[in-house]
Amino acid sequence: MATPFTATILGAPRIGPNRELKRAAEGYWAGRVERARLEEVAAELRRQTLTSLTRSGLDSVPVNTFSYYDQMLDTAVLLGALPPRVQGIDDELDRYFAAARGTAEVAPLEMTKWFDTNYHYIVPEIGPDTTFSLHPEKVLAELAEARELGVPARPVVIGPLTFLALSKAVDGAAAPIERIDELLPLYVQLLAQLADAGAEWVQLDEPVLVTDELDNAAKLAHRVYTELAAAPRRPDILVATYFGALNGALAALARSPIEAIGVDLVAGGVQAVAAVPELADKLVVAGVVDGRNIWRTDLASALDTLDSLSGSVGSLAVSTSCSTLHVPYSLDAEDDLDDTLRTWLAFGDEKVFEVATLAVALRKGRDAVAAEIEASNAAGANRAADPRLHVGATRARLTSVLATGAQRGPADQRRAAQNARLGLPLLPTTTIGSYPQTIAIRKARAALRAGEIDQTGYEQQMRSEIADVVRLQEDLGLDVLVHGEPERNDMVQYFAEKLDGFVATQNGWVQSYGSRCVRPPILYGDVVRPEPMTVEWITYAQSLTDKPVKGMLTGPVTILAWSFVRDDQPLADSANQIALAIRDETVDLQAAGVSIIQVDEPALRELLPLRGKDQQEYLAWAVAAFRLSTSGVDDTIQIHTHLCYSEFGEVIGAIADLDADVTSIEAARSHMEVLGDLNAVGFTNGVGPGVYDIHSPRVPSTEEMVASLREALEAVPAERLWVNPDCGLKTRKTDEVTASLRNMVAAAKAVRAQRYPSTGTS
Ligand code: GLN
Ligand code: ZN
Repeated sequence: MATPFTATILGAPRIGPNRELKRAAEGYWAGRVERARLEEVAAELRRQTLTSLTRSGLDSVPVNTFSYYDQMLDTAVLLGALPPRVQGIDDELDRYFAAARGTAEVAPLEMTKWFDTNYHYIVPEIGPDTTFSLHPEKVLAELAEARELGVPARPVVIGPLTFLALSKAVDGAAAPIERIDELLPLYVQLLAQLADAGAEWVQLDEPVLVTDELDNAAKLAHRVYTELAAAPRRPDILVATYFGALNGALAALARSPIEAIGVDLVAGGVQAVAAVPELADKLVVAGVVDGRNIWRTDLASALDTLDSLSGSVGSLAVSTSCSTLHVPYSLDAEDDLDDTLRTWLAFGDEKVFEVATLAVALRKGRDAVAAEIEASNAAGANRAADPRLHVGATRARLTSVLATGAQRGPADQRRAAQNARLGLPLLPTTTIGSYPQTIAIRKARAALRAGEIDQTGYEQQMRSEIADVVRLQEDLGLDVLVHGEPERNDMVQYFAEKLDGFVATQNGWVQSYGSRCVRPPILYGDVVRPEPMTVEWITYAQSLTDKPVKGMLTGPVTILAWSFVRDDQPLADSANQIALAIRDETVDLQAAGVSIIQVDEPALRELLPLRGKDQQEYLAWAVAAFRLSTSGVDDTIQIHTHLCYSEFGEVIGAIADLDADVTSIEAARSHMEVLGDLNAVGFTNGVGPGVYDIHSPRVPSTEEMVASLREALEAVPAERLWVNPDCGLKTRKTDEVTASLRNMVAAAKAVRAQRYPSTGTS
């Protein structure tokens, strides 16, 4: 074995501390930025990352975790597995971007969530004609670049099991994993080339081993890594796993002659690792610093964890639990953070410092880092005692609401009460909430931030946007209106800014996919709603029209999923606190005369645990939190929910259990399959399968939406069917939206007239 290292992280962010790569890439796509400039920005970001990691004391530094777009797409390029439709594009980088984003001629590859994180990867397509071939230029170039800088470089590549398991079979091909034996010779070649280029270590990422995705995971892992370890010339191999525990695959992996295994000791327990005797001659890369949440590490308890392993494994290195891709770069960019809170947190840079500190303690004893341990203890004690984490009023109310039963009346009774109150036509038309975020809206928000207009001026401008959107909807003849959400920068951040217990960061950007970044708020304390959050906007919109305007709220699970969440209590408890605040908002909306309230849960699927055995428990508390948030109003209030962004298969039962009166759900691309699935679980409430795909600028014709409604009516009686697009309209242009909705309303009227001539078509 090469010298075992002692301190590392599994990967680093690449979008840039000031989102430099985002700006350069988007400029390049728009033709504003030269290729050379884009490459320069990328090289400079890599150089900064590598030198900063090395200077911070890591003795093994990940390279090739840079990406122009996504690491799975990089791996598809590495293995020659780009789909035929982009192969005609000569230029390498343009071909790569075409696969990621599509062009006028070719459709992009799909994108989906990277395990249970909020990062989205590009899904490689493996067809019957895919032939793999090795193209290691990127990893070799980045390795050379790092070695030139004197960095102790450890190239990182996604392993063959994870690559295939996360790829998608197309054109009738067999499951990609069946082609594992075609990939192994390429990895063997790659290992030789990396060794020749001076790499002492290589990291192969196999997070798929913490899921139930592979049958025979343990056997497969053992076979694959026994074969790769037998490569005649190679660096030492670290197989990195993260986001959960390996279960049986850990011992199997340890029985193969690789040199090191990375385990996530934040998501998985340490005892299971200590209990594997086969690790006695391995380097265990112990992920004790949370790579995906923003809390400061309790150094003393991390050292206890490390100590509990040191007797049973060959050697130990300290690491983050996963790549720090999932957290912002540095706390230094947060000027406004309150000083107390700051001491509780660690972003990317601070995590590297923690890793280095822990490694020093391992080498030289705790006394060598006594000051750091003390600071960490003090921060922990201070955080635990902070009154904002223990708000008696919130806790007492939650207990009492839960005790009195957070329940609504039976669904049919509610339906009768709501029909009598609302008097809607059959096949009512509506939208999901947001209307285009116009340039005027963005300008007003920027002007408010810059102090050029005051809150009153800003609110005036938002009101005029709302008035425009209401007028537009009346002109189009929609039945249930929305206010358009102009005042919301983001559907989670908006609420986080209004609730105590949350703090928004200034610069805490995290890559969500490609050039897109999000800034998740931090839920650090007990949730308190100091005042109504949406009532003024909705009642203003309602004052402009006789049609019902939906109150529009984000659900507790989605707020959790898109925030950094406190780690000192179960997620379910935090979900309930948020649910209580949303519930209070619904009660205020009811008092203000609002008759329909939508509570969006697009992220319901996102928090689903990676292991099947944990999923029921999650779904139970997620559904309970939603029901807590929607059961404070009486039966005449129609509760809507909205879901999108995912394959609903595994959560379809939970969607039915939400028991919303009306569920709008993305379906335009999955051809109404979702209706059959809902029927199969006995769902009998209202449902609005999206009749057109808002993710494209195309204006759908009336005829195609008529066809799609007819298809829906095969599965659902007209009394339950709603007509709506498949998601919010904020990313679209006003003229596209106007044309599409005009056709949608016409389609609803045509179907009403054909099928139910007596009910009228107005
Ligand atoms: N109400 C939100 C909107 O229309 C829902 C967004 C979403 O589904 N992600 O924008
Ligand atoms: Zn949506």
